[in-house]
Amino acid sequence: MKFATKVIHVGVKPDPSTGAIMTPIYQTSTYVQSAPGVHQGFEYARTQNPTRSALEENLAALENGRHAICYASGLAAMDAILKLYHPGDEVLCTNDLYGGSYRLLTKIFSQFGLVGKFVDMSDTEILAQSITPNTKLIWIETPTNPMLSIIDIRAVCDIAKEAGVKVCVDNTFSSPYLQTPLTLGADIVTHSATKYINGHSDVIHGVVITDDDEISDQLRFIQNAAGAVPGPMDCFLVLRGIKTLHLRMERSCDNAATIAAYLRSHKKVSKVYYPGLEDHPNHAVAKRQMKKFGGMVSFDLVDNTLTSATSVLSNTQLFSLAESLGGVESLIGHPASMTHAAIPKAERLKVGLTDSLIRLSVGVEDVEDLIQDLDQALSLV
Ligand SMILES: *Cc1c(COP(=O)(O)O)cnc(C)c1O
Repeated sequence: MKFATKVIHVGVKPDPSTGAIMTPIYQTSTYVQSAPGVHQGFEYARTQNPTRSALEENLAALENGRHAICYASGLAAMDAILKLYHPGDEVLCTNDLYGGSYRLLTKIFSQFGLVGKFVDMSDTEILAQSITPNTKLIWIETPTNPMLSIIDIRAVCDIAKEAGVKVCVDNTFSSPYLQTPLTLGADIVTHSATKYINGHSDVIHGVVITDDDEISDQLRFIQNAAGAVPGPMDCFLVLRGIKTLHLRMERSCDNAATIAAYLRSHKKVSKVYYPGLEDHPNHAVAKRQMKKFGGMVSFDLVDNTLTSATSVLSNTQLFSLAESLGGVESLIGHPASMTHAAIPKAERLKVGLTDSLIRLSVGVEDVEDLIQDLDQALSLV
């Protein structure tokens, strides 16, 4: 089955009691048994919920995996994955990791002896040299945030396989429409479904997908034991959002490509970071592993002061100044003071994350209106 058919049909069957075409919101905590231990596969809603099961079946199919487990948030999903490991184990991560993932690893799991290491994975040689006998997991984000570097998933997986290390890809920025890491050799894929998968900025949600029966069993056990489950209403909303994932991604990617080209030719813009630009350092890898180049664009100003950036950030009308990404509406953000404020300035500057860097999450509006909006905001700098 092709992607556009999967998003609408997989896991979604007419409700057996009424024929309702949409999966009901099973807002229940428990299920009646006809005799002790005799039930219909559902006992207690921390363990199983039919709305959640439908969503899990759908998400597994989108990532070409056999198992999906849904969580109360993207970080709850990461928390469950990290609980697969033990004191002394090392997790090797992309160096410009999502701030919340960095915090979970370095501030919470460090207390339990898990060691987080951060390397530039666009250089696979550095990666190969960083693996030690204690390295148990490689954690990739691609495109990275906010610099939009691209990591070669297949190359990293080849190195990891040789060393007997598992690979997890946080696929939030691409969505399964643009790339499916399991088919490139990854063992685990995770998403903040809060972003593109749900796509309507009205839910916090996470998911883990894997083909590995053992990892899936362990994660189910951890979820039931630790309890980070999503509510049925949220599962329903994500299931509804997914139905247009392919349409939203197409428009968002096309809009982002048009905006990247516009910004590139603007005299007040010094740099544009977008993997779809032919001179992006990893453009060839992006072209190979992604269907399109994504809906995120970052750029820097010729007058690279905080004052100029603040002026642009405060003067857009359609681009709303807010954290997050991946919704139908366009957002504008300031990584240095918002998403990446926890990272020391010297560290930020090493990767080009200046005080004037601006990040766009390009939505699905009419691109002419979006460009007009950026144009008037830039004219005020
Ligand atoms: C937002 C985000 C997360 C965290 O997800 P939540 O749903 O906010 O918990 C993790 N990784 C990436 C890349 C994100 O953008």
